[in-house]
Amino acid sequence: MIKEIPTSDEFASAAYAQFDFAWDIVISFMTTLDEAGQYIEVDKDDQAQFWEAARQRILTSLIIAQQGVELAIKGRLVAFSPYLLLGSPSDWPKDKTGEGIEFSEFKTIDAGELIKAYNMVSPQPFDTKFVELFERVRKVRNSAMHSVNAKLRISPKEVILIILEAHEHLFPDQSWVMARKEFLFSAPEAQVYDDNDHIDGVLVREYWAVFNLLSKSERERFFKVAAGVRKYICPACRYQSVKFDGPVPHYAVLEPNKPTSTTLWCFVCNDTHEVSRGRCSDAVCKGNVISDEYACCCTCGEEQ
Ligand SMILES: [Zn+2]
Ligand SMILES: [Zn+2]
Repeated sequence: MIKEIPTSDEFASAAYAQFDFAWDIVISFMTTLDEAGQYIEVDKDDQAQFWEAARQRILTSLIIAQQGVELAIKGRLVAFSPYLLLGSPSDWPKDKTGEGIEFSEFKTIDAGELIKAYNMVSPQPFDTKFVELFERVRKVRNSAMHSVNAKLRISPKEVILIILEAHEHLFPDQSWVMARKEFLFSAPEAQVYDDNDHIDGVLVREYWAVFNLLSKSERERFFKVAAGVRKYICPACRYQSVKFDGPVPHYAVLEPNKPTSTTLWCFVCNDTHEVSRGRCSDAVCKGNVISDEYACCCTCGEEQ
């Protein structure tokens, strides 16, 4: 008998934990560099040296992200049958005590066979774009894990895009931004403070850095922030961020995008904010989108 058979949800949450960890590694370097730039001048050479020193850790984050992808696919397979993961009976362990064997003692099928198995049992096979991504990342991961290659480089943006893209394919109904927010609030360091007021500010700094890293079409794809429309300061995110000397984020959009619109939508707080369409009190600013609740101009950030 096989005991302790894992569920699809358990695999999914293990996958999420890996995505979060990989994301956390890359983001912590990006925000460290951003923060340094607030206090000292960081030129191109400094940046290059910074990323060279981070090279091995960025590769490690990619390895972790790939593990997350494999766990998520395993979760999808388990939804059909957990036994699909067990491979050939000739490799199965022996039940010496007669009390059964725990599922985790079995060797599961190779990563290279996961997609094949899924596409065989699922009425809806994986998108070819996802299969390409999986194969590409697996190759890099294998060379990073099994040998030493001084030329092997992965940029932070590549890891960020791999996580966003894999998450989009594997968990199409869930928002990565919201999942990451939950992770920050349940992180070990969040357990030791009485209040975790600063976490919303951390999230703003993080997504402002990612927003600036991505292209217009990537922002539209992953964060639903339309490419051709004007971006405003999210008054709620600004409030959370400046409390801790963070950046003022310009990533909110009018909803609908009309001259008379009185609602701003923000992908980070995932909320809408009421605005009035009056002139900013700063004569130099041409802004006419003023937050009622936070009494600030959403173009220049000036208090009203
Ligand atoms: Zn916001
Ligand atoms: Zn203004």
